[in-house]
Amino acid sequence: MTTPLPPKPTPRGEERVYFDAAAENRLTYQTCDTCGSTVFYLRDVCPHCGGESLRLRDSAGVGKVYSYTVQNRASHPYFADRTPMTLALVDLEEGFRLLADLTGADDVEVGMPVEVVFRELDEDVTLPHFRPRGREEEPK
Ligand SMILES: [Zn+2]
Repeated sequence: MTTPLPPKPTPRGEERVYFDAAAENRLTYQTCDTCGSTVFYLRDVCPHCGGESLRLRDSAGVGKVYSYTVQNRASHPYFADRTPMTLALVDLEEGFRLLADLTGADDVEVGMPVEVVFRELDEDVTLPHFRPRGREEEPK
């Protein structure tokens, strides 16, 4: 039996900017020059004030778990041997929230300090994952 290929995003527009940065192990977000808001996901126009001057920034990749769920059933054959897997909403210190895999934590809890780690899915796509801050486990 062949190993199923992973499901992949098909980035367009500002998503391409985001995924190109992720391939360089950079987690990007934006700030608005007009109103100062933090903007995520990347966009052409500020969702808070309509301003069109958005500045691309690199996050330090450090945050805390806002919420999480443990997925026991694979939503795609690729994930069959990766369950159970933890999906977490992470509040980054720069003021945005990201949904991503959380690995290396059987003791996850709301408020747990986490840090980003990048996983190369294939030559086209690299995805941010999170792990408990200060632990060395690589994402699976
Ligand atoms: Zn704005």
